[in-house]
Amino acid sequence: MSEPIPFLDLKTINLRSREKFHDALDRVLDSGYVLQGQETQRFEEEFAAYCELKHCVAVSNGLDALRLVLLAWEIGPGDEVIVPAHTFIATWLAVIQTGATPVPVDVDADTCNIAPGLIESAITARTRAIIPVHLYGQPADMSPVMEIAEKHGLLVLEDAAQAHGARYHGRRVGGLAHAAAFSFYPGKNLGALGDAGAVTTNDPSLAERVRTLANYGSKNKYHHELPGWNCRIDELQAAFLRIKLATLDEDNAHRGLLANGYTEQLQGLGLPSVKSGVESVWHLFVVRHPSRDVLLEKLKLAGIHCLVHYPVPPHFQPACRFLGYSTGTFPVSERLASEVLSLPMGPTLPVGDVGRIASVINTFVDELK
Ligand SMILES: *Cc1c(COP(=O)(O)O)cnc(C)c1O
Repeated sequence: MSEPIPFLDLKTINLRSREKFHDALDRVLDSGYVLQGQETQRFEEEFAAYCELKHCVAVSNGLDALRLVLLAWEIGPGDEVIVPAHTFIATWLAVIQTGATPVPVDVDADTCNIAPGLIESAITARTRAIIPVHLYGQPADMSPVMEIAEKHGLLVLEDAAQAHGARYHGRRVGGLAHAAAFSFYPGKNLGALGDAGAVTTNDPSLAERVRTLANYGSKNKYHHELPGWNCRIDELQAAFLRIKLATLDEDNAHRGLLANGYTEQLQGLGLPSVKSGVESVWHLFVVRHPSRDVLLEKLKLAGIHCLVHYPVPPHFQPACRFLGYSTGTFPVSERLASEVLSLPMGPTLPVGDVGRIASVINTFVDELK
């Protein structure tokens, strides 16, 4: 049998920069700062420049980044925040952890992103914000979301955890709304060697408030304005991220080549659909098939490792049962959970592997006919 194809080869991805990571460790040791030093400041400047926006506050992880923005906006008990029904559960958890209530809206069956046409009917007198997610690397349809938000006086927080570098009508994600949250979880398009995240915004007072909240509510050591948290990034992770940021565009371009290959070669199953004017960074290449679980097993037998993002919608998770949603409430999201399959994708996956993966899938689809 031929070599197995991993879903994401993180080891190979990171070993490309082994020497540079060692140099970064030396630089951090020599600086004498392990937190809140030059590397963090530089990374924040470089990531803000990359996203073509004004402010970046690097933090501990993506979930904290989401939560810190909501807290900085003083969203809490009694408030409602609109979220997509189909997303990684962290989008919902950030809302729950502020004491506010996540109000799900079903997604568009083609893009898997929040359906703007369904948002207004979910707005109540308690609604404070909307969190569109740029799922799988494709920016959500932000123009209608921002229009609705403006009409109803709502704040908009992009969950950009899967879309570092993606563009919506020419503009990078992270600066399309009032604020954005990024994750640098190792498997993301820009991943640290551990947990990390960031908040981006063009609003200087929000950036300052998030920075304060993430540092015990303190701007000056031992003086605390707010009852804050400790959600800081390590100097080492910031240093590692600076190294990986330098090749992010190249890495994303490689993902694009793989996505084109899949799109050209796959037949007979649901393929991702990217709207015009939108540039995906292909965090995941997600296909759909009604016999997803059988296909997943076939691929596994052929040595091709795939994953499902996500097999259980947040409203069916025990963690969210208290919200009281029953089966059938978000039909598109529920159907996606049973049909989606993420194919191998990443900056070091050889373009030649796409043919082997596609032929296993095409054979499976043909045999079902
Ligand atoms: C990864 C992810 C998060 C959470 O980020 P962490 O850094 O893992 O806390 C939030 N939202 C989405 C859509 C994600 O994919």
